[in-house]
Amino acid sequence: MTLSLQGMGMTSLRTRERMIKRLSEQGIRNQKVLEIMRDTPRHIFMDEALSSRAYEDTALPIGYNQTISQPYIVAKMTELLLEATGHLGKVLEIGTGCGYQTAILAQLVDHVYSIERILPLQRKAKGHLWDLKLKNVSYLYNDGNLGWSDYAPFDAILASAAPFEIPQELLQQLAVGGVMVIPIGVNGQQTLQRVTRNINDYEVEILESVTFVPFLSGKE
Ligand code: SAH
Repeated sequence: MTLSLQGMGMTSLRTRERMIKRLSEQGIRNQKVLEIMRDTPRHIFMDEALSSRAYEDTALPIGYNQTISQPYIVAKMTELLLEATGHLGKVLEIGTGCGYQTAILAQLVDHVYSIERILPLQRKAKGHLWDLKLKNVSYLYNDGNLGWSDYAPFDAILASAAPFEIPQELLQQLAVGGVMVIPIGVNGQQTLQRVTRNINDYEVEILESVTFVPFLSGKE
């Protein structure tokens, strides 16, 4: 009993409010993003042993050598997508992972299409989103390099693993006027980039240094 109450304390709304305050201090301005992150329990996406650390501003292990993205990165990438285009219809996510970023996106856009190359991770993520009653998400177990042509073009694409260069298929599946937020580069030297598709070309903004797990090929 005492233990579970302790657990609740560490994962309470008050703890999330502290996280939101920190995100504002770090420069996150989009109120909708902040509100949704305040109201979405992050600890349910990780193993119980780590749930008391769920609101720290750090990436934490989710198994299979992967990590849940730190809250600042989730907030920043979501904000970058939203500020570029007012309303987002279809959004493609590469790297479902534990599903936390998916859950934030699902509350802000019409539909999320999420691809993951490690099946057990995606299965777990699906369960968490189901528990939160987030049903506007479709899942695909595949290599994200291929995108998801059945539902292309996408108004936005978000990748939470870093390739050396932007996969061609993803560029092709981005709608004209759409934006992609993606980390690019080798380990330790990645930059977050935002790519906007214009009628005749792609515009690339290089934003800030980041550290992501590598974008791999094939399925596990
Ligand atoms: N936003 C997720 C990030 C997880 S880490 C979270 O917060 O949990 C990045 C994820 O991208 C991992 O789950 C990894 O398996 C996945 N990934 C890496 N390369 C991929 C690829 N080519 N296709 C699909 N998923 C990929």
